Amino acid sequence: MKTDFDIHRLVRSNVANLAPYSSARDEFTESTSDMVFLDANENPFDTGVNRYPDPQQIALKKVLASQRNIKPSQLLLGNGSDEVLDLLFRAFCEPTIDNVITSPPTYGMYEVLANINAIENRKVICTVFHQLDVATILQKINAYTKMILVCSPNNPTGNVLNEKDITKLLTKYRGLLVIDEAYIDFSETESWVSQLEKYPNLVITQTLSKAYGMAGIRLGMCMASEAIIAVLNKIKPPYNINQLTQEKALQLLSEKELTLNHIQLILKEKEILYKVLLDVKFVKKVYPSQANFLLVKVDNATKRYEQLIDKGIVVRNRSNQPLCFNCLRFTIGTPQENNVLIETLQSL
Ligand SMILES: *Cc1c(COP(=O)(O)O)cnc(C)c1O
Repeated sequence: MKTDFDIHRLVRSNVANLAPYSSARDEFTESTSDMVFLDANENPFDTGVNRYPDPQQIALKKVLASQRNIKPSQLLLGNGSDEVLDLLFRAFCEPTIDNVITSPPTYGMYEVLANINAIENRKVICTVFHQLDVATILQKINAYTKMILVCSPNNPTGNVLNEKDITKLLTKYRGLLVIDEAYIDFSETESWVSQLEKYPNLVITQTLSKAYGMAGIRLGMCMASEAIIAVLNKIKPPYNINQLTQEKALQLLSEKELTLNHIQLILKEKEILYKVLLDVKFVKKVYPSQANFLLVKVDNATKRYEQLIDKGIVVRNRSNQPLCFNCLRFTIGTPQENNVLIETLQSL
Protein backbone atom coordinates (compact mmCIF):
# COMPACT_ATOMS: atom_id res chain seq x y z
CA MET A 1 0.00 0.00 0.00
CA LYS A 2 1.34 3.44 -0.96
CA THR A 3 1.12 5.93 1.89
CA ASP A 4 2.70 9.17 3.00
CA PHE A 5 4.10 7.42 6.08
CA ASP A 6 7.67 8.45 6.91
CA ILE A 7 9.32 6.78 9.88
CA HIS A 8 12.13 9.35 9.97
CA ARG A 9 9.61 12.04 10.84
CA LEU A 10 8.70 10.11 14.01
CA VAL A 11 12.17 9.35 15.41
CA ARG A 12 13.47 11.57 18.23
CA SER A 13 16.23 13.83 16.87
CA ASN A 14 18.83 12.68 19.43
CA VAL A 15 18.19 9.08 18.37
CA ALA A 16 18.35 9.96 14.69
CA ASN A 17 21.70 11.68 15.23
CA LEU A 18 23.45 9.31 17.63
CA ALA A 19 26.20 6.86 16.76
CA PRO A 20 25.35 3.54 18.45
CA TYR A 21 27.81 1.76 20.73
CA SER A 22 29.89 -0.68 18.76
CA SER A 23 30.78 -3.76 20.80
CA ALA A 24 33.76 -6.03 20.21
CA ARG A 25 31.39 -8.67 18.84
CA ASP A 26 29.79 -6.17 16.47
CA GLU A 27 33.14 -5.23 14.99
CA PHE A 28 34.29 -8.76 14.41
CA THR A 29 31.73 -11.45 13.69
CA GLU A 30 33.40 -14.08 11.49
CA SER A 31 34.13 -16.57 14.19
CA THR A 32 35.82 -19.88 13.46
CA SER A 33 36.87 -22.28 16.17
CA ASP A 34 40.61 -21.87 15.59
CA MET A 35 40.59 -18.09 16.12
CA VAL A 36 42.03 -16.38 19.16
CA PHE A 37 39.73 -13.76 20.66
CA LEU A 38 41.60 -11.13 22.64
CA ASP A 39 39.33 -8.20 21.82
CA ALA A 40 36.62 -8.00 24.50
CA ASN A 41 38.50 -8.25 27.81
CA GLU A 42 36.66 -11.47 28.62
CA ASN A 43 38.09 -14.07 30.97
CA PRO A 44 39.66 -16.70 28.65
CA PHE A 45 38.93 -19.73 30.85
CA ASP A 46 35.86 -21.73 29.91
CA THR A 47 33.02 -21.52 32.43
CA GLY A 48 30.34 -22.10 29.80
CA VAL A 49 29.42 -18.41 29.90
CA ASN A 50 32.79 -16.60 29.89
CA ARG A 51 32.20 -15.15 26.40
CA TYR A 52 29.79 -12.31 25.60
CA PRO A 53 26.60 -13.48 23.90
CA ASP A 54 25.78 -12.75 20.25
CA PRO A 55 24.53 -9.12 20.33
CA GLN A 56 22.38 -9.74 17.24
CA GLN A 57 21.06 -13.18 18.40
CA ILE A 58 21.39 -14.47 14.84
CA ALA A 59 20.63 -18.15 15.50
CA LEU A 60 17.61 -17.41 17.68
CA LYS A 61 16.19 -14.74 15.37
CA LYS A 62 16.46 -17.11 12.42
CA VAL A 63 14.15 -19.60 14.16
CA LEU A 64 11.66 -17.00 15.47
CA ALA A 65 11.54 -15.10 12.17
CA SER A 66 10.99 -18.20 10.06
CA GLN A 67 8.17 -19.36 12.37
CA ARG A 68 6.50 -15.99 11.75
CA ASN A 69 7.29 -15.78 8.06
CA ILE A 70 9.28 -12.54 8.33
CA LYS A 71 12.92 -11.58 7.76
CA PRO A 72 15.27 -11.58 10.79
CA SER A 73 15.82 -7.87 9.99
CA GLN A 74 12.13 -7.27 10.85
CA LEU A 75 12.62 -8.68 14.35
CA LEU A 76 14.09 -7.15 17.50
CA LEU A 77 14.50 -9.16 20.71
CA GLY A 78 14.28 -7.71 24.19
CA ASN A 79 14.63 -8.64 27.85
CA GLY A 80 10.90 -9.45 27.90
CA SER A 81 8.41 -7.49 25.81
CA ASP A 82 8.53 -4.89 28.59
CA GLU A 83 12.02 -3.90 27.39
CA VAL A 84 10.88 -3.85 23.79
CA LEU A 85 8.00 -1.50 24.68
CA ASP A 86 10.38 0.74 26.64
CA LEU A 87 12.70 0.94 23.61
CA LEU A 88 9.74 2.06 21.48
CA PHE A 89 9.05 4.91 23.91
CA ARG A 90 12.72 5.91 24.01
CA ALA A 91 13.14 5.84 20.23
CA PHE A 92 10.02 7.76 19.24
CA CYS A 93 8.60 9.79 22.14
CA GLU A 94 10.21 13.09 23.19
CA PRO A 95 9.91 13.42 27.00
CA THR A 96 7.45 16.10 28.21
CA ILE A 97 6.45 16.90 24.60
CA ASP A 98 4.99 13.84 22.84
CA ASN A 99 2.03 11.71 23.87
CA VAL A 100 0.67 8.19 23.40
CA ILE A 101 -2.86 6.81 23.46
CA THR A 102 -3.92 3.68 25.34
CA SER A 103 -7.33 2.10 25.92
CA PRO A 104 -8.03 0.92 29.48
CA PRO A 105 -8.82 -1.60 30.77
CA THR A 106 -5.50 -2.89 29.48
CA TYR A 107 -1.97 -3.94 30.43
CA GLY A 108 -0.67 -1.72 33.25
CA MET A 109 2.88 -1.43 31.90
CA TYR A 110 1.90 1.01 29.12
CA GLU A 111 1.00 3.63 31.72
CA VAL A 112 4.11 2.89 33.81
CA LEU A 113 6.39 3.15 30.77
CA ALA A 114 4.74 6.42 29.72
CA ASN A 115 5.34 7.79 33.23
CA ILE A 116 8.98 6.61 33.34
CA ASN A 117 9.64 8.28 30.01
CA ALA A 118 7.73 11.47 30.91
CA ILE A 119 5.21 10.93 28.12
CA GLU A 120 1.56 11.96 28.45
CA ASN A 121 -0.75 8.93 28.28
CA ARG A 122 -4.08 9.91 26.72
CA LYS A 123 -6.53 7.29 27.92
CA VAL A 124 -9.58 6.43 25.89
CA ILE A 125 -11.70 3.92 27.81
CA CYS A 126 -12.93 0.91 25.82
CA THR A 127 -16.60 0.52 24.93
CA VAL A 128 -18.84 -1.60 27.20
CA PHE A 129 -18.07 -4.50 24.85
CA HIS A 130 -14.35 -4.08 25.64
CA GLN A 131 -13.64 -2.84 22.12
CA LEU A 132 -11.70 0.25 21.00
CA ASP A 133 -13.63 3.53 20.94
CA VAL A 134 -12.12 4.44 17.57
CA ALA A 135 -14.01 7.70 17.10
CA THR A 136 -12.72 9.11 20.41
CA ILE A 137 -9.20 7.81 19.77
CA LEU A 138 -9.13 9.62 16.42
CA GLN A 139 -10.30 12.81 18.16
CA LYS A 140 -7.53 12.59 20.78
CA ILE A 141 -4.72 12.33 18.21
CA ASN A 142 -2.68 15.48 17.72
CA ALA A 143 0.65 16.28 16.01
CA TYR A 144 2.54 14.93 19.05
CA THR A 145 0.81 11.54 19.25
CA LYS A 146 3.64 9.15 18.38
CA MET A 147 2.09 5.81 19.33
CA ILE A 148 -1.23 4.13 20.00
CA LEU A 149 -0.74 1.04 22.16
CA VAL A 150 -3.39 -1.68 22.09
CA CYS A 151 -3.44 -5.26 23.29
CA SER A 152 -5.17 -8.15 21.48
CA PRO A 153 -6.22 -10.50 22.99
CA ASN A 154 -6.51 -7.87 25.68
CA ASN A 155 -5.33 -8.23 29.27
CA PRO A 156 -7.33 -8.32 31.61
CA THR A 157 -10.50 -8.73 29.52
CA GLY A 158 -9.38 -11.64 27.31
CA ASN A 159 -11.15 -10.51 24.13
CA VAL A 160 -9.69 -9.96 20.66
CA LEU A 161 -10.00 -6.42 19.26
CA ASN A 162 -12.16 -5.99 16.14
CA GLU A 163 -10.18 -6.21 12.94
CA LYS A 164 -12.03 -3.33 11.29
CA ASP A 165 -11.22 -0.97 14.18
CA ILE A 166 -7.51 -1.75 13.97
CA THR A 167 -7.55 -1.39 10.20
CA LYS A 168 -9.21 2.00 10.57
CA LEU A 169 -6.50 3.20 12.94
CA LEU A 170 -3.74 1.81 10.72
CA THR A 171 -5.05 3.74 7.72
CA LYS A 172 -6.20 6.99 9.36
CA TYR A 173 -3.36 7.51 11.82
CA ARG A 174 0.17 8.44 10.70
CA GLY A 175 2.02 7.44 13.89
CA LEU A 176 2.86 3.93 15.11
CA LEU A 177 0.12 1.49 16.02
CA VAL A 178 1.59 -1.01 18.49
CA ILE A 179 -0.37 -4.24 18.92
CA ASP A 180 0.68 -6.28 21.95
CA GLU A 181 0.05 -9.92 21.08
CA ALA A 182 1.31 -11.51 24.31
CA TYR A 183 -1.64 -13.95 24.22
CA ILE A 184 -1.96 -14.53 20.47
CA ASP A 185 -0.91 -18.19 20.67
CA PHE A 186 -3.99 -18.98 22.79
CA SER A 187 -6.28 -17.31 20.27
CA GLU A 188 -8.13 -18.56 17.20
CA THR A 189 -7.53 -15.29 15.38
CA GLU A 190 -4.57 -14.76 13.12
CA SER A 191 -1.63 -12.60 14.21
CA TRP A 192 -1.27 -9.13 12.65
CA VAL A 193 2.28 -10.12 11.68
CA SER A 194 0.93 -11.23 8.29
CA GLN A 195 -0.09 -7.60 7.62
CA LEU A 196 3.34 -6.01 8.15
CA GLU A 197 4.01 -5.59 4.41
CA LYS A 198 0.76 -3.71 4.02
CA TYR A 199 1.08 -1.22 6.89
CA PRO A 200 4.41 0.62 7.41
CA ASN A 201 3.17 2.03 10.75
CA LEU A 202 2.31 -1.37 12.27
CA VAL A 203 4.39 -2.67 15.19
CA ILE A 204 3.65 -6.01 16.87
CA THR A 205 5.04 -7.33 20.13
CA GLN A 206 4.96 -10.93 21.29
CA THR A 207 6.61 -12.82 24.13
CA LEU A 208 7.87 -16.25 25.12
CA SER A 209 6.51 -15.62 28.64
CA LYS A 210 2.99 -17.01 28.28
CA ALA A 211 2.12 -19.72 25.71
CA TYR A 212 5.76 -20.79 25.33
CA GLY A 213 6.22 -21.27 29.07
CA MET A 214 9.46 -19.24 29.35
CA ALA A 215 8.61 -16.27 31.58
CA GLY A 216 11.78 -16.94 33.57
CA ILE A 217 14.22 -16.37 30.70
CA ARG A 218 12.78 -12.93 29.73
CA LEU A 219 12.44 -12.95 25.97
CA GLY A 220 10.17 -10.55 24.12
CA MET A 221 9.89 -9.73 20.43
CA CYS A 222 9.12 -6.68 18.37
CA MET A 223 8.14 -7.10 14.72
CA ALA A 224 7.83 -4.24 12.27
CA SER A 225 9.28 -2.87 9.02
CA GLU A 226 13.07 -3.11 8.59
CA ALA A 227 13.22 0.70 8.94
CA ILE A 228 11.55 0.68 12.37
CA ILE A 229 13.63 -2.26 13.60
CA ALA A 230 16.82 -0.48 12.46
CA VAL A 231 15.93 2.51 14.68
CA LEU A 232 15.36 0.24 17.70
CA ASN A 233 18.60 -1.65 17.04
CA LYS A 234 20.49 1.64 17.29
CA ILE A 235 19.43 2.18 20.91
CA LYS A 236 19.11 -1.32 22.35
CA PRO A 237 21.65 -2.32 25.02
CA PRO A 238 24.40 -4.24 23.15
CA TYR A 239 24.07 -7.55 25.03
CA ASN A 240 20.44 -7.36 26.19
CA ILE A 241 19.72 -11.06 25.53
CA ASN A 242 22.06 -13.13 27.65
CA GLN A 243 23.71 -16.41 26.65
CA LEU A 244 21.57 -18.63 28.91
CA THR A 245 18.37 -17.09 27.52
CA GLN A 246 19.46 -17.58 23.91
CA GLU A 247 20.39 -21.22 24.57
CA LYS A 248 17.27 -22.10 26.54
CA ALA A 249 14.97 -20.43 24.01
CA LEU A 250 16.56 -22.35 21.12
CA GLN A 251 16.22 -25.61 23.03
CA LEU A 252 12.56 -25.16 24.03
CA LEU A 253 11.55 -23.74 20.63
CA SER A 254 12.74 -27.00 19.10
CA GLU A 255 10.29 -28.92 21.32
CA LYS A 256 7.21 -27.76 19.41
CA GLU A 257 4.99 -30.70 20.38
CA LEU A 258 5.45 -29.99 24.07
CA THR A 259 4.42 -26.34 23.66
CA LEU A 260 1.40 -27.22 21.52
CA ASN A 261 0.27 -29.86 24.02
CA HIS A 262 0.50 -27.39 26.87
CA ILE A 263 -1.52 -24.81 24.95
CA GLN A 264 -4.21 -27.38 24.07
CA LEU A 265 -4.44 -28.50 27.69
CA ILE A 266 -4.72 -24.91 28.94
CA LEU A 267 -7.50 -24.18 26.42
CA LYS A 268 -9.39 -27.33 27.42
CA GLU A 269 -9.09 -26.44 31.09
CA LYS A 270 -10.30 -22.93 30.36
CA GLU A 271 -13.51 -24.31 28.81
CA ILE A 272 -14.12 -26.51 31.86
CA LEU A 273 -13.47 -23.67 34.29
CA TYR A 274 -15.68 -21.29 32.27
CA LYS A 275 -18.69 -23.63 32.56
CA VAL A 276 -18.17 -24.43 36.25
CA LEU A 277 -17.79 -20.76 37.16
CA LEU A 278 -21.20 -19.95 35.68
CA ASP A 279 -22.76 -22.14 38.39
CA VAL A 280 -20.91 -20.60 41.33
CA LYS A 281 -23.54 -18.64 43.28
CA PHE A 282 -21.62 -15.37 43.72
CA VAL A 283 -20.35 -15.27 40.11
CA LYS A 284 -22.24 -12.63 38.11
CA LYS A 285 -20.50 -12.97 34.77
CA VAL A 286 -17.63 -14.80 33.08
CA TYR A 287 -16.21 -12.93 30.09
CA PRO A 288 -15.37 -14.98 26.98
CA SER A 289 -11.59 -15.22 26.68
CA GLN A 290 -9.13 -15.93 23.88
CA ALA A 291 -6.23 -15.93 26.34
CA ASN A 292 -5.03 -18.18 29.19
CA PHE A 293 -7.11 -16.45 31.85
CA LEU A 294 -10.72 -15.65 32.64
CA LEU A 295 -12.10 -12.33 33.84
CA VAL A 296 -14.90 -13.01 36.29
CA LYS A 297 -17.38 -10.54 37.76
CA VAL A 298 -18.38 -11.49 41.31
CA ASP A 299 -20.61 -10.00 44.02
CA ASN A 300 -17.73 -8.49 46.01
CA ALA A 301 -14.25 -8.82 44.51
CA THR A 302 -12.28 -7.68 47.56
CA LYS A 303 -14.13 -10.10 49.85
CA ARG A 304 -13.75 -13.07 47.48
CA TYR A 305 -10.10 -12.20 46.80
CA GLU A 306 -9.33 -12.28 50.52
CA GLN A 307 -11.29 -15.50 51.07
CA LEU A 308 -9.23 -17.14 48.32
CA ILE A 309 -5.96 -15.88 49.83
CA ASP A 310 -7.00 -17.41 53.15
CA LYS A 311 -7.31 -20.75 51.35
CA GLY A 312 -3.89 -20.29 49.75
CA ILE A 313 -5.07 -19.32 46.27
CA VAL A 314 -3.71 -16.13 44.73
CA VAL A 315 -5.69 -14.52 41.91
CA ARG A 316 -5.65 -10.95 40.56
CA ASN A 317 -8.17 -8.37 41.70
CA ARG A 318 -8.83 -6.08 38.71
CA SER A 319 -11.63 -4.09 40.35
CA ASN A 320 -9.80 -0.77 40.13
CA GLN A 321 -9.62 -0.92 36.32
CA PRO A 322 -12.34 0.83 34.33
CA LEU A 323 -15.18 -1.50 33.23
CA CYS A 324 -13.82 -4.16 35.62
CA PHE A 325 -15.68 -3.30 38.83
CA ASN A 326 -15.84 -6.38 41.10
CA CYS A 327 -13.78 -8.42 38.62
CA LEU A 328 -11.18 -11.05 39.45
CA ARG A 329 -8.77 -12.50 36.91
CA PHE A 330 -8.03 -16.22 37.13
CA THR A 331 -5.00 -17.57 35.27
CA ILE A 332 -5.62 -21.11 33.99
CA GLY A 333 -3.44 -23.50 36.00
CA THR A 334 -2.76 -27.23 35.81
CA PRO A 335 -5.84 -29.52 36.01
CA GLN A 336 -4.97 -30.12 39.69
CA GLU A 337 -4.65 -26.41 40.45
CA ASN A 338 -7.91 -25.63 38.67
CA ASN A 339 -9.68 -28.33 40.66
CA VAL A 340 -8.45 -26.77 43.90
CA LEU A 341 -9.79 -23.40 42.70
CA ILE A 342 -13.16 -24.90 41.71
CA GLU A 343 -13.62 -26.82 44.96
CA THR A 344 -12.64 -23.76 46.99
CA LEU A 345 -15.01 -21.43 45.11
CA GLN A 346 -17.88 -23.89 45.56
CA SER A 347 -17.20 -24.11 49.30
CA LEU A 348 -17.24 -20.34 49.95
C1 LIG B 1 2.35 -10.85 30.32
C2 LIG B 1 2.26 -9.75 29.33
C3 LIG B 1 3.38 -9.35 28.62
C4 LIG B 1 4.67 -10.07 28.83
O1 LIG B 1 5.72 -9.29 29.10
P1 LIG B 1 7.16 -9.96 29.16
O2 LIG B 1 7.98 -8.79 29.59
O3 LIG B 1 7.48 -10.41 27.76
O4 LIG B 1 7.15 -11.08 30.13
C5 LIG B 1 3.26 -8.34 27.68
N1 LIG B 1 2.06 -7.77 27.45
C6 LIG B 1 0.96 -8.17 28.09
C7 LIG B 1 -0.35 -7.57 27.76
C8 LIG B 1 1.03 -9.16 29.06
O5 LIG B 1 -0.08 -9.53 29.71
